[in-house]
Amino acid sequence: MSILQKIKNTVRSRSIHVAYVDVGSCNGCDIEVLACLAPRYDIEQYGIYVHNNPREADVLLVIGSMTPQWVDKLQDIWEKIPEPKVAIAVGNCPISGCVFNRWHSYIEPPVAKYIPIAAQVPGCPPRPTEILNAILALAPTLFNDYEEKKK
Ligand code: SF4
Repeated sequence: MSILQKIKNTVRSRSIHVAYVDVGSCNGCDIEVLACLAPRYDIEQYGIYVHNNPREADVLLVIGSMTPQWVDKLQDIWEKIPEPKVAIAVGNCPISGCVFNRWHSYIEPPVAKYIPIAAQVPGCPPRPTEILNAILALAPTLFNDYEEKKK
């Protein structure tokens, strides 16, 4: 492995940038993501930074049951994220539609139909620790040696 690749691996493991998008939720999962930022869970101690700029993101958290109005916008956001990138479905909504998935409801889950989802964090809502674990488990496997794997 080259020195440059080692430096990239080290920097990436301590600087994971996360954007999140809500494609139609009850806001329960948003609150759990925001709880990750609070002192109790303190997501930044793991080198994870949450913001909403897809052009700087490595990880996209997708929350909500996928309303049709969000399909194009979600795909646009996904296209704007530079490689290497990964998407995680947070909560039951992006996986199955959860409580919104009823006869004549105006949603189109799962989110995995529209963008590649690398991991799912089920729950209604999932706990902040589960969201944190998913990011920490997934990001290193994707980003480590990324350039070497691409060759
Ligand atoms: S999974 Fe549950 S808490 Fe999360 S957005 Fe859906 S209904 Fe709300």
